Amino acid sequence: MQTKLSIYKSHVLYLKSQKMFLETKANRSNKKGWIEVICGSMFSGKTEELIRRIRRAQFAKQKIELFKPAIDTRYDETEVVSHDANALTSTPVHNAAEILLYVSMDTVEVVGIDEIQFFDEGIVGVCNQLANAGIRVIVAGLDMDYLGNPFGPMPKLMAIAEYVSKTHAICTRCGDLAHYSHRIVAGDKQVLLGEKDAYEPLCRHCFQSINL
Ligand code: ZN
Repeated sequence: MQTKLSIYKSHVLYLKSQKMFLETKANRSNKKGWIEVICGSMFSGKTEELIRRIRRAQFAKQKIELFKPAIDTRYDETEVVSHDANALTSTPVHNAAEILLYVSMDTVEVVGIDEIQFFDEGIVGVCNQLANAGIRVIVAGLDMDYLGNPFGPMPKLMAIAEYVSKTHAICTRCGDLAHYSHRIVAGDKQVLLGEKDAYEPLCRHCFQSINL
Protein backbone atom coordinates (compact mmCIF):
# COMPACT_ATOMS: atom_id res chain seq x y z
CA MET A 1 0.00 0.00 0.00
CA GLN A 2 1.29 3.46 -0.85
CA THR A 3 1.91 5.76 2.05
CA LYS A 4 1.18 9.46 1.83
CA LEU A 5 4.91 10.08 1.74
CA SER A 6 5.51 7.74 -1.19
CA ILE A 7 2.60 9.32 -3.07
CA TYR A 8 4.13 12.73 -2.37
CA LYS A 9 7.55 11.55 -3.50
CA SER A 10 6.22 10.10 -6.74
CA HIS A 11 4.36 13.35 -7.36
CA VAL A 12 7.56 15.34 -6.89
CA LEU A 13 9.35 12.97 -9.27
CA TYR A 14 6.55 13.47 -11.77
CA LEU A 15 6.87 17.25 -11.50
CA LYS A 16 10.63 17.02 -11.96
CA SER A 17 10.10 14.92 -15.06
CA GLN A 18 8.01 17.73 -16.53
CA LYS A 19 11.11 19.57 -17.56
CA MET A 20 9.44 22.45 -19.23
CA PHE A 21 8.93 26.16 -19.19
CA LEU A 22 12.30 26.77 -17.67
CA GLU A 23 13.41 30.31 -18.15
CA THR A 24 16.65 29.13 -19.66
CA LYS A 25 17.57 31.10 -22.69
CA ALA A 26 16.82 29.51 -26.01
CA ASN A 27 20.19 28.60 -27.46
CA ARG A 28 20.49 31.05 -30.31
CA SER A 29 23.90 30.00 -31.58
CA ASN A 30 22.62 26.46 -32.06
CA LYS A 31 19.25 27.73 -33.28
CA LYS A 32 17.49 25.92 -30.49
CA GLY A 33 14.11 27.47 -29.96
CA TRP A 34 10.88 25.65 -29.25
CA ILE A 35 7.11 25.99 -29.21
CA GLU A 36 4.81 25.80 -26.17
CA VAL A 37 1.04 25.62 -26.66
CA ILE A 38 -1.32 26.51 -23.80
CA CYS A 39 -4.87 25.53 -24.70
CA GLY A 40 -8.23 24.90 -23.12
CA SER A 41 -11.79 26.17 -22.84
CA MET A 42 -13.01 29.60 -21.87
CA PHE A 43 -12.31 30.45 -18.21
CA SER A 44 -9.59 27.81 -17.97
CA GLY A 45 -6.79 30.28 -17.25
CA LYS A 46 -4.96 30.09 -20.59
CA THR A 47 -4.09 33.76 -20.70
CA GLU A 48 -3.11 33.78 -17.02
CA GLU A 49 -0.71 30.91 -17.72
CA LEU A 50 0.73 32.76 -20.74
CA ILE A 51 1.17 35.89 -18.62
CA ARG A 52 2.81 33.85 -15.85
CA ARG A 53 5.41 32.43 -18.24
CA ILE A 54 6.01 35.81 -19.90
CA ARG A 55 6.48 37.51 -16.53
CA ARG A 56 9.09 34.96 -15.52
CA ALA A 57 10.92 35.57 -18.80
CA GLN A 58 10.76 39.30 -17.97
CA PHE A 59 12.32 38.63 -14.57
CA ALA A 60 15.06 36.75 -16.41
CA LYS A 61 15.59 39.95 -18.45
CA GLN A 62 14.88 38.22 -21.73
CA LYS A 63 13.83 40.20 -24.78
CA ILE A 64 10.14 39.54 -25.37
CA GLU A 65 7.57 40.38 -28.03
CA LEU A 66 3.91 39.81 -27.31
CA PHE A 67 1.12 39.66 -29.90
CA LYS A 68 -2.58 39.15 -30.19
CA PRO A 69 -4.97 39.18 -33.16
CA ALA A 70 -6.43 42.61 -33.92
CA ILE A 71 -9.85 40.93 -33.84
CA ASP A 72 -9.66 40.59 -30.05
CA THR A 73 -10.78 44.03 -28.91
CA ARG A 74 -12.66 42.97 -25.84
CA TYR A 75 -10.73 44.97 -23.32
CA ASP A 76 -7.93 47.01 -24.78
CA GLU A 77 -6.26 47.47 -28.15
CA THR A 78 -2.72 46.85 -26.99
CA GLU A 79 -2.94 44.70 -23.92
CA VAL A 80 -3.12 40.99 -23.36
CA VAL A 81 -5.73 40.99 -20.66
CA SER A 82 -6.96 37.98 -18.82
CA HIS A 83 -10.30 37.88 -17.06
CA ASP A 84 -8.59 38.81 -13.83
CA ALA A 85 -7.15 41.98 -15.40
CA ASN A 86 -3.52 40.92 -15.04
CA ALA A 87 -2.31 42.77 -18.12
CA LEU A 88 0.76 42.95 -20.32
CA THR A 89 1.27 45.24 -23.29
CA SER A 90 1.07 43.53 -26.68
CA THR A 91 1.00 44.37 -30.37
CA PRO A 92 -2.26 43.69 -32.21
CA VAL A 93 -1.65 42.13 -35.65
CA HIS A 94 -4.05 41.50 -38.53
CA ASN A 95 -2.53 38.28 -39.82
CA ALA A 96 0.16 35.75 -39.02
CA ALA A 97 2.76 37.13 -41.45
CA GLU A 98 2.62 40.55 -39.77
CA ILE A 99 4.26 39.04 -36.68
CA LEU A 100 7.48 38.49 -38.61
CA LEU A 101 7.65 42.23 -39.38
CA TYR A 102 7.84 43.04 -35.67
CA VAL A 103 10.27 40.35 -34.54
CA SER A 104 13.98 40.98 -34.80
CA MET A 105 15.29 37.43 -35.20
CA ASP A 106 18.72 38.44 -33.89
CA THR A 107 17.65 39.91 -30.57
CA VAL A 108 14.22 38.61 -29.54
CA GLU A 109 14.36 35.62 -27.21
CA VAL A 110 10.70 34.99 -26.43
CA VAL A 111 7.57 35.50 -28.54
CA GLY A 112 4.17 35.19 -26.87
CA ILE A 113 0.90 35.08 -28.82
CA ASP A 114 -2.53 35.13 -27.19
CA GLU A 115 -5.89 34.10 -28.72
CA ILE A 116 -3.92 32.22 -31.35
CA GLN A 117 -7.00 30.31 -32.53
CA PHE A 118 -8.12 33.41 -34.43
CA PHE A 119 -5.09 33.46 -36.71
CA ASP A 120 -4.99 32.11 -40.25
CA GLU A 121 -3.25 28.80 -41.01
CA GLY A 122 -0.11 30.78 -41.81
CA ILE A 123 0.50 31.02 -38.07
CA VAL A 124 1.79 27.43 -38.07
CA GLY A 125 4.65 28.31 -40.43
CA VAL A 126 5.33 31.54 -38.55
CA CYS A 127 5.69 29.72 -35.21
CA ASN A 128 8.01 27.16 -36.81
CA GLN A 129 10.07 29.90 -38.41
CA LEU A 130 10.48 31.72 -35.08
CA ALA A 131 11.38 28.56 -33.16
CA ASN A 132 13.80 27.47 -35.89
CA ALA A 133 15.52 30.84 -35.55
CA GLY A 134 16.21 30.08 -31.88
CA ILE A 135 13.21 31.78 -30.28
CA ARG A 136 11.05 30.38 -27.47
CA VAL A 137 7.49 30.64 -28.79
CA ILE A 138 4.62 30.53 -26.27
CA VAL A 139 1.09 30.57 -27.65
CA ALA A 140 -2.29 30.41 -25.92
CA GLY A 141 -5.69 29.73 -27.42
CA LEU A 142 -9.04 27.98 -27.41
CA ASP A 143 -8.62 24.39 -28.54
CA MET A 144 -12.31 23.93 -29.40
CA ASP A 145 -15.12 26.17 -30.59
CA TYR A 146 -18.50 26.30 -28.86
CA LEU A 147 -19.63 23.17 -30.72
CA GLY A 148 -16.69 21.16 -29.50
CA ASN A 149 -14.87 21.21 -32.85
CA PRO A 150 -11.12 21.87 -33.06
CA PHE A 151 -10.59 25.60 -33.52
CA GLY A 152 -8.76 26.93 -36.62
CA PRO A 153 -5.01 26.27 -36.60
CA MET A 154 -4.96 24.76 -33.07
CA PRO A 155 -4.67 21.07 -34.06
CA LYS A 156 -1.63 21.79 -36.24
CA LEU A 157 -0.03 23.99 -33.61
CA MET A 158 -0.49 21.29 -30.99
CA ALA A 159 1.10 18.79 -33.37
CA ILE A 160 4.22 20.83 -34.11
CA ALA A 161 4.79 22.08 -30.55
CA GLU A 162 7.36 20.56 -28.22
CA TYR A 163 5.10 21.18 -25.22
CA VAL A 164 1.31 21.24 -24.96
CA SER A 165 -0.50 22.18 -21.75
CA LYS A 166 -4.25 21.82 -21.41
CA THR A 167 -5.80 24.11 -18.87
CA HIS A 168 -9.23 23.24 -17.48
CA ALA A 169 -12.13 25.27 -16.21
CA ILE A 170 -14.70 24.03 -13.72
CA CYS A 171 -18.03 22.72 -15.01
CA THR A 172 -20.71 25.16 -13.94
CA ARG A 173 -23.26 22.36 -13.66
CA CYS A 174 -21.48 19.60 -11.76
CA GLY A 175 -18.15 20.98 -10.54
CA ASP A 176 -16.02 18.51 -12.51
CA LEU A 177 -13.14 19.61 -14.74
CA ALA A 178 -14.51 21.31 -17.85
CA HIS A 179 -13.01 21.49 -21.33
CA TYR A 180 -15.97 22.64 -23.45
CA SER A 181 -17.05 26.26 -23.93
CA HIS A 182 -20.81 26.00 -24.21
CA ARG A 183 -22.52 29.04 -25.71
CA ILE A 184 -25.57 30.08 -23.79
CA VAL A 185 -26.77 32.82 -26.13
CA ALA A 186 -28.16 32.44 -29.65
CA GLY A 187 -25.86 32.67 -32.68
CA ASP A 188 -24.06 30.30 -35.00
CA LYS A 189 -20.86 32.22 -35.76
CA GLN A 190 -17.72 30.39 -34.72
CA VAL A 191 -16.28 33.64 -33.44
CA LEU A 192 -18.26 35.47 -30.84
CA LEU A 193 -16.21 37.90 -28.87
CA GLY A 194 -16.65 40.18 -25.98
CA GLU A 195 -19.28 38.47 -23.96
CA LYS A 196 -17.92 36.63 -21.02
CA ASP A 197 -21.52 35.89 -20.12
CA ALA A 198 -22.13 34.20 -23.47
CA TYR A 199 -20.34 31.00 -22.46
CA GLU A 200 -20.25 28.49 -19.67
CA PRO A 201 -17.54 25.86 -19.17
CA LEU A 202 -18.89 22.31 -19.18
CA CYS A 203 -17.47 18.84 -18.65
CA ARG A 204 -17.93 16.12 -21.27
CA HIS A 205 -20.92 14.58 -19.53
CA CYS A 206 -22.85 17.84 -19.07
CA PHE A 207 -21.98 19.03 -22.59
CA GLN A 208 -23.25 15.73 -24.01
CA SER A 209 -26.43 15.79 -22.01
CA ILE A 210 -27.49 19.24 -23.24
CA ASN A 211 -26.60 18.46 -26.85
CA LEU A 212 -28.69 15.29 -27.09
ZN1 ZN B 1 -20.38 18.70 -15.61
